[in-house]
Parts: sequence; C-alpha cells; structure tokens
Amino acid sequence: MRKPLVAGNWKMHFTVPEGIQFVNRLRPDLERYARAVDLVLLPPSIMLWEVASVLRTSPIRVGAQNVAWEDRGAFTGEISPAMLAGWCEYVLVGHSERRHIFGESDEQIQRKVTAALRHGLRVILAVGETLEENEAGRTEEVMTRQLSRALDGVTADAAGRLSIAYEPVWAIGTGRAATPGLANEVMGMIRTWLAGVLSAGRAQETRILYGGSVTPENARSLMEEPEIDGALVGGASLKADQFSAIVASTADSMAAAQG
Ligand code: PEP
Repeated sequence: MRKPLVAGNWKMHFTVPEGIQFVNRLRPDLERYARAVDLVLLPPSIMLWEVASVLRTSPIRVGAQNVAWEDRGAFTGEISPAMLAGWCEYVLVGHSERRHIFGESDEQIQRKVTAALRHGLRVILAVGETLEENEAGRTEEVMTRQLSRALDGVTADAAGRLSIAYEPVWAIGTGRAATPGLANEVMGMIRTWLAGVLSAGRAQETRILYGGSVTPENARSLMEEPEIDGALVGGASLKADQFSAIVASTADSMAAAQG
C-alpha cells in the first residue's frame, strides 16, 4: 500500500518571521500523523533554509516550489538543484502558476525534473488541464502530452523519487474542487500511462496526489478514492487548523482502507 503524502504549497505568502512562527505552531499537530502520512511543506525560497532548520529534528520534510535546470551560472533569480540537494528533500515542478503566469514550457519542465532527480531530490510533478481543455474533452490528451514531455528520459529507477500531482487548473484556488470520481478517473489514467512508460511495478508505487481547492470538508471523500494517494494543498495549507484537518482526514481514510 502506498503511504499517502500531503504537501502544503505556501506560494508567495508569509514573511520570514511569519513563516517560522507558523511552522512552530503547526508542527506539534502535524507530527502526530507522520507515521501514517508523509508531510511536506513548500515555503517560499527565501525562508526554505530557516524552515528546514526549524524542522531538522522533525519528520516533516521541506521542499522548494521551483528549481532551475542548471547547477550554476548566469541565471539571475534562480535556485539550482545543487543548492537544494542534501538538506531540502522535495521540489515542486510544473505547477500551473509556473506554466501559465511565468510561461514555463514542457521542455523547461522536463529539464527541471531531470536536473532535480539527478541531484537526488524528490520531485512532485504537477500536471493539469485548463477549463477549456476539460470542457473540450481533451483531459487525457493534455495529461499524456504533459507527462510524456516532462518525463522524457526519466528511467523507472529515477522515478522512484517522483510523485505526480494532478491539479486541474480550473480547480486551483477557485473553491471548485474536482469531484472525487473525476479525480480518481484521471489519476487512474495517469497510472496506466506510467505503467506503459516506466514499469507496472513503478506505476503501482508512484504516489499520485490530487490538488485543487482541497479543504477539510472535501478531503476525506477525495482521499477515500483508490487512486488518490494524498494532496497538494494551496490556500488551506496557510491555515494551521485547516491543514492539520486535511492531514487528519488523510490518515483516517488510510486507516479505514487498511481495515
Ligand atoms: C496549489 O496551489 O497547488 C493548489 C492546489 O491551490 P489551492 O489548494 O488553493 O487550490
């Protein structure tokens, strides 16, 4: 059985003191669930080191929201995988805000995934279709394109450090989450695709998260779906009680599934 993973994407929120205060407040609540759920916080890069220092003795992991594809050089404003490796365990790649606001291409995302995996980082690769693509019935085509381009050249072995986050663009920050059934269907399709490209075993081991307006109210019904292995949480990860409640629901649904 796959251990669920819940990641909190803070996006561009909190000052450094606010971020540290928030982690100190969240930590005791969250750590109670660490045996059942892998927990990851994705703070803005300016406070990554501080947050990682606070969590050094904690089972809660930290990750970056973005990464460059080169190790060093003239890339103003970027943070390389070599700078993150060794103390920062995870990195989020391909978030829809990176794709749509900052114009990241599938090719750039592929280079980031490859560079991050090469440095031993665990990658959460975000994929998702727009509302227009969804309404045109193109979800499967878009998923196949985003996945095949992003994972071009990634071996089944390296994919042991990969998770996928299915985040329909129309569900992110809108309060309109995908229905559990729809999310499960798309994620099943993603797993079938992974099995064909990597291996059946690797596909079974890979965690596929749902992201898009996850709240304490809808978390349980989402997490009960068999293909959903956790959540990538934006807005609700900025509220300690809401994020803890989502993690608690994830732990509960896993306990129920195990009987
Ligand atoms: C996200 O930013 O990845 C996200 C899913 O945001 P929200 O939970 O606010 O929809």
